[in-house]
Amino acid sequence: MKKMLPVVNGPTLNCVLPVSGIKVKYRPFVVKEQKALLLAKESENQENILDTIKAVMISCTDGTLDFEKATVDDIAFFFLQLRIASVGEEVKFSIPCASCDQPVIMNLNLNSVKINAKKKNNIVMITDSIGIKFRYPTFNDTIAIDMMDAELRGIGATKMLIEHIFDDEEIFNKSEYTDEELEKWILGLTQDQLRNIENFFQDIPKLKHELNFTCPHCKTEQSRLLEGLHNFFRLGSVA
Ligand SMILES: [Zn+2]
Repeated sequence: MKKMLPVVNGPTLNCVLPVSGIKVKYRPFVVKEQKALLLAKESENQENILDTIKAVMISCTDGTLDFEKATVDDIAFFFLQLRIASVGEEVKFSIPCASCDQPVIMNLNLNSVKINAKKKNNIVMITDSIGIKFRYPTFNDTIAIDMMDAELRGIGATKMLIEHIFDDEEIFNKSEYTDEELEKWILGLTQDQLRNIENFFQDIPKLKHELNFTCPHCKTEQSRLLEGLHNFFRLGSVA
């Protein structure tokens, strides 16, 4: 009888997601998973890319990564750690020069990409006594927000991320109100009050990295900010 080929177990690694503090055990991705990522990236189909990346993260964590609890930037950070463990920390890619549009080759060490995670209470005061408790967006929230019409995104995201509203006496749980009731309440706020909410969105801990470089073709000094799920997924999928 033919002997079975030996089972090869990869190393088990640990990481703590910087925003939610969730601990994740994972293994590097294997050759077939890397191929699937490259194929998805070449397809340039956003939905296909996200689905493939999600499937790879699920199998590399044996289904333990909680997409409902981890924030979207936690997920993007985790994907970079997975990429570092699997392919290495160096990534080479090209971006067009802002001045002459010629491609500029960049070398980036993914270990230098960090999240500005500060502990916050996620409370936005609307008046002296009325406030909103928010949560940070998850991977699924971000996909849903991306799919909204651009002009509805602000209200849609606000509604989606409210945990509860409170005044100095009571808590008003979101689950007890309809979408229409919440929307009507938000539309009744003043511009200044809305600006407090916008500031909260601006302050959400984000994975970002600033690239400073001089174009080798036209010598223009410039900087480019990498942020958001799509940017880092694209980077992490570069072989
Ligand atoms: Zn240039």
